[in-house]
Amino acid sequence: MSVDISEYGKNIVNKYAKQLGYDDDKLEMLHAIVESITEILHKHNVFAKSVEWDREGAKLINNKVQLPSGMEEVITEIIRDNEFYKIFLKEEFGGMGYTPIVLGPILEVLSTFDLSLQILVTISLSVLEPLISHHKAEFNDVIQKFADGKTTGYVAFTEAGAGSNLERVKSTSMLEGDEWVLNGTKIFISNGGYADTGLFLAQNIVGGKPEGTNVFLVEGLKNIEILRLEEKSGLHANPTAQLHFKDVRVPKENLIGKVGEGYSKVLERLMGMRLGVAYQASSMAKRGYQLAVEYAQTREQFGRPIISFPEIKNKIKSMELQIPRLDDYAIRSAFAVERNMRGWIPIEVGAGGKNMAEKMAAKMLPGVVRYGIAHYFVSSAKLYCTEIANSMLYDAQQIFGGMGFVAETEINKIARDARVLSIYEGTSEIHSWAINRAIKAVNMIPKFKYPYLQYDSETIYEKMLFARFNQLKDII
Ligand SMILES: Cc1cc2nc3c(=O)[nH]c(=O)nc-3n(C[C@H](O)[C@H](O)[C@H](O)COP(=O)(O)OP(=O)(O)OC[C@H]3O[C@@H](n4cnc5c(N)ncnc54)[C@H](O)[C@@H]3O)c2cc1C
Repeated sequence: MSVDISEYGKNIVNKYAKQLGYDDDKLEMLHAIVESITEILHKHNVFAKSVEWDREGAKLINNKVQLPSGMEEVITEIIRDNEFYKIFLKEEFGGMGYTPIVLGPILEVLSTFDLSLQILVTISLSVLEPLISHHKAEFNDVIQKFADGKTTGYVAFTEAGAGSNLERVKSTSMLEGDEWVLNGTKIFISNGGYADTGLFLAQNIVGGKPEGTNVFLVEGLKNIEILRLEEKSGLHANPTAQLHFKDVRVPKENLIGKVGEGYSKVLERLMGMRLGVAYQASSMAKRGYQLAVEYAQTREQFGRPIISFPEIKNKIKSMELQIPRLDDYAIRSAFAVERNMRGWIPIEVGAGGKNMAEKMAAKMLPGVVRYGIAHYFVSSAKLYCTEIANSMLYDAQQIFGGMGFVAETEINKIARDARVLSIYEGTSEIHSWAINRAIKAVNMIPKFKYPYLQYDSETIYEKMLFARFNQLKDII
């Protein structure tokens, strides 16, 4: 009883990537990259080490963040020796020009081994994305630093009073001569205090009053105090920091996008971060499944392997049935992000329209449709994959019996780590709201119907999901 979980994922990546113009050579190269990262992770014995890293945890010592022993070596080998960020940089920046559609297999291999490590390596991509999409010459040096593996990134948006509603941040930015002065306290910052190149979201203060929000590139940790690292129920090896920015001065050019449009124009585009979480979820669910199958085949009770008991076998079967669906959701959303980036409209929307609403909708095309659809897919994948991964990991942990409750087992660590997936990068409730908002926008288009995925029957995990988010049934 097993599915070749890597083969299915690989095949659908190939299928969609080909539609986007990737040729066989480029796909072969992609799979070679994935193999080489896998080799590094095996060489460093990361499956076993991740449990030790979890126990040791990231620490704050003398105002410096210290990662668990041996973790930095692995990060350096991936990002510096293997020039990880170059994979995603456009050719004109000396990169390999791979686009979101191929994120999946790379993110998957990292988060299969360890979520904390994956975050430490990949958040930088969220810093790089706006530096490229709102590019100016002044960003070239820092882009090069990423390309050379000499820096990693963090994203400082959340504050105590502004989580789901980021537009309400209280941090401030004021232009003084040729510099912006940044102030504020950020919480829950992944890689915080360890990574030294970040994005910072603040109100744009003009004449003492807020006029929209700004997003900045902040280089170095000068004038940034690490107030604390959070003690969390999982993700122990990844520092989640409270950072106090006190009169941090950045050059005028470090503003990303236009003044006052930080939230609406810069952050809204960061779909890759949410897409990345869908991939984290699907790979952790698959790892949980693998561990559960191995355990159920070898653990004996009542003189038989526990896999022979229907209660266990059924759980494993349900997981097995669910796995390709996780892949479908994740890849579909990567496809939508990519089409949005390229400005393609994935459907026939027509023009004109019978009445005023339809005429207006047609006029707003293609932006509304493209953007709405991309949000719809990304939010659907983020919500679906993360909620379902958590249910699957509950079952995987259950199959381990008492050992599932013991912190030293990998399954226990994964289940604890996975709990955050439906919280960060927009909670499931926020994505449910975003899906409905996207639907309203796109329903303005005559005759448009959302292409939600339909399977022959619902898995137990889908039943649980739609029981909790019943407004999404037949929508996502
Ligand atoms: C481990 C970890 C790492 C993180 N990393 C980062 C990072 O690197 N950078 C960063 O900026 N942030 C980061 N975050 C912050 C994270 O994105 C926020 O915690 C998350 O967006 C939720 O915000 P909140 O905690 O303020 O919850 P709240 O927004 O206060 O939400 C509380 C509850 O209310 C619900 N809710 C809120 N609004 C609505 C609504 N309109 N409709 C229905 N329900 C609603 C939520 O779903 C939730 O259940 C991280 C968080 C964690 C735990």
